[in-house]
Amino acid sequence: MAIITNAPRGTQDTLPSQSYKWQHIEQTALDTARLFGFREIRTPTFEHTELFARSVGDTTDVVQKEMYTFEDKGNRSITLRPEGTAGVLRAALQNGLLNDALPVKASYLISCFRYEKPQAGRLREFHQFGVEMLGSASPVADAQVIAVAKSIFDTLGVTGLRLEINSIGCPACRAKYHQALKEYFYSHQEDLCDTCKDRLEKNPMRILDCKSPVCAEIAKNAPVVLDYICDDCKVHFESLQSNLDAMGIEYVVNPTIVRGLDYYTRTVFEFVATGIGAQGTVCGGGRYDGLIKMLGGPDTPAIGFAMGLERLLLVMEQCGCEFPPEMGCTMYIGSMGPKAALKAVELCAALREEGFYGECDTVGRSVKAQMKYADKLGAKFSCIIGEDELAQNKAKIKNMKTGETQEVSLDSESFVDFIYGGTIDEMVDYTDGLIDLKISQMNLQKKGEEDE
Ligand code: ATP
Ligand code: MG
Repeated sequence: MAIITNAPRGTQDTLPSQSYKWQHIEQTALDTARLFGFREIRTPTFEHTELFARSVGDTTDVVQKEMYTFEDKGNRSITLRPEGTAGVLRAALQNGLLNDALPVKASYLISCFRYEKPQAGRLREFHQFGVEMLGSASPVADAQVIAVAKSIFDTLGVTGLRLEINSIGCPACRAKYHQALKEYFYSHQEDLCDTCKDRLEKNPMRILDCKSPVCAEIAKNAPVVLDYICDDCKVHFESLQSNLDAMGIEYVVNPTIVRGLDYYTRTVFEFVATGIGAQGTVCGGGRYDGLIKMLGGPDTPAIGFAMGLERLLLVMEQCGCEFPPEMGCTMYIGSMGPKAALKAVELCAALREEGFYGECDTVGRSVKAQMKYADKLGAKFSCIIGEDELAQNKAKIKNMKTGETQEVSLDSESFVDFIYGGTIDEMVDYTDGLIDLKISQMNLQKKGEEDE
């Protein structure tokens, strides 16, 4: 039975009491990116394995060790997406997005799958928000993409992230660097892990990214790519920095960040948190000018980033970020008997039509139990409808915090008016701000309409 009541290792549930945090992060990310012109793209959860092997690169940990790959019933090799860029590029090519005005700007919100050793901030199913900008080689684009991430962190109130940038040059300057790296790593060949021994010939830059402590120690003294980049790449990197300066975005140059594949070019960057443990990289991105062509598309420069939302949430909780409160229950309408229950249903519907959370009994509880439940929901107001109330067509609405009551006609209009009505000033003191905000906004709007 345990297999039924335990989720697979490395996966997580987001429970109803926690989902408002995710909604806040997701909405903020999408809205913020929209201010830079990025619109959401949705692509399939799985793609042909070949797409990831080619675009992520078959010398990477992701492709070599971490993919969830299976054969479907039609004998196709399918992989659950380990990241977002490949699917976006595939969709852009398949749907001719690059034939339109460039750059194409797309954002995405996805679950990703990687077979890794689960730990804090490292899961087998995790979530990413990312953006891609296709069709600009200019360093202005790099800076704008970085600014999207920065702006999301700022809007969420995240502090203490360090932006680290680097340039890994272009294929022209890469050759010289590869040569220097190979020479260096060959001199430490015996100590490298088996995977890295393999990478030595094929892709020495990946060794710089290896998680094995021994390899990481060796990598510390390796030649750095910034000493090898050509003049064009230097100018590009300097211009990126002027653009970041112009937006007041602070950064440090970290010459050890790499994305070791040929189609990754020039800018690479990370936002790193100190204090959430080893899994400190919340966001990683960079330029991939050669990738679209490599996938069979037109020669199109591009840049993007992806942020890990589980890690982002960890950072937010650690630095005490505030989440907007959930909308609480505006009114619980209790009832006694079937006729009154129908009335409660009708009045709740009217409240909801105005955008308020109205609740009534859906279980068949006693009145006493209903009121206990209203308390548990944290309802702002409650009332009980019984024989008497139906006969007089009136009910007493109780302010659950102060205990004050007010008699109101048993019809939709009167109930809605009550919510909007004279109680506003005292309600502003309430803790769950969302309802108050909504009411005061609606009142302002109404007042504006009346003034016109
Ligand atoms: P790491 O070096 O931590 O393994 P990565 O280089 O594999 O990260 P990317 O492929 O650049 O990560 O993915 C972008 C972001 O997605 C990371 O910065 C991180 O925030 C998040 N991420 C990556 N893998 C995981 C995972 N297994 N669980 C949770 N978040 C992840
Ligand atoms: Mg990884």
